[in-house]
Amino acid sequence: MFNQFPNLKTGEPLSKHCWYALGGPADYFIEVTDIDEIPKLISEAKENSIPYIIIGGGSNTVFHDEGLRGLVIKITADSLEFESGACRVVADAGVSMMRLVKESMERELTGLESLFGLPGTVGGAIFGNAEAHGTAIGGFLESATLLDNNGNLKEVDKDYFQFSYRHSKLHSTGETILKVTLKLNQITEEDLENEELQVLRNKAEEALNFRKDHQPTGRNNGSFFKNPKGDYAGRLIDVAGLKGAKIGGAYISEKHGNFFMNDGTATTSDLIELRNLAKSTVKEKFDITLEEEVRIVMPNGTYLNDEN
Ligand SMILES: Cc1cc2nc3c(=O)[nH]c(=O)nc-3n(C[C@H](O)[C@H](O)[C@H](O)COP(=O)(O)OP(=O)(O)OC[C@H]3O[C@@H](n4cnc5c(N)ncnc54)[C@H](O)[C@@H]3O)c2cc1C
Repeated sequence: MFNQFPNLKTGEPLSKHCWYALGGPADYFIEVTDIDEIPKLISEAKENSIPYIIIGGGSNTVFHDEGLRGLVIKITADSLEFESGACRVVADAGVSMMRLVKESMERELTGLESLFGLPGTVGGAIFGNAEAHGTAIGGFLESATLLDNNGNLKEVDKDYFQFSYRHSKLHSTGETILKVTLKLNQITEEDLENEELQVLRNKAEEALNFRKDHQPTGRNNGSFFKNPKGDYAGRLIDVAGLKGAKIGGAYISEKHGNFFMNDGTATTSDLIELRNLAKSTVKEKFDITLEEEVRIVMPNGTYLNDEN
């Protein structure tokens, strides 16, 4: 199986590919640097009834301690082309968000500054409509090349994704993003005279500094839960008295109640138990059901939080 992919590995520890540094081995694992390989890989997985999971940077994904009885496709294909006259950027799904924002700014294309410092890839960001300081990536999408579940390529526009808070239609369709075209804004001569470029650079720098000041460093996936309407998951967890709560090697940060950390000795089971504790306590105290933002992958390739 997968004979035409010499770089495919067996038994690869998934902890090496996720920000949490958690997760057991994958039966099959491949890092894809050429987007054109993905349709072939997925069709072979399907022919052999092997579940597959796509990851980019692994900054919003955590795998089970038993790993995955299937194939993990890590997309690192990173072609990035600018059509500056038209303010368009065409990016492979595996381009890192840091690079996208940085290179866009270097070309005086604006809009993404607030997303400076966001971990992960363009594919992961579009999948979850990543957002920071009120700027969501979905707002800049013009079109995308997707691979559907029958192995067909299709071109779709922004409306197809039905973007909402940390959500796109792809959560239910399971389609794979191969390439995206984003439409940014061009800084004008007048803006340049007004030193607008420096203002935007400062905005990017401030976004990065905000992360340093308000978020703990260490092994985590950013916000663990989505914010419920009109409130903050971190506030609820804090008021429920759970900051600092610890199960095994997993604990809730003292700095930010919605950051669930691995102290270096945690297992995914510890993290899941901590998640259960936070969910049940918040439900009991405030009658609010927290929904995970983090994607927890079970050994059979389903998501623990499939309802999201
Ligand atoms: C320190 C820290 C801070 C963070 N801050 C923020 C923040 O401010 N705002 C925010 O929104 N998020 C934040 N996050 C979460 C995370 O960075 C984002 O969700 C990011 O967009 C995930 O990208 P990724 O490539 O790492 O995705 P992964 O974790 O690799 O994947 C996430 C999901 O996307 C799917 N996916 C990935 N690539 C593709 C593709 N090509 N096609 C189809 N599906 C795909 C995966 O299957 C998975 O379900 C933070 C995380 C960390 C660790």
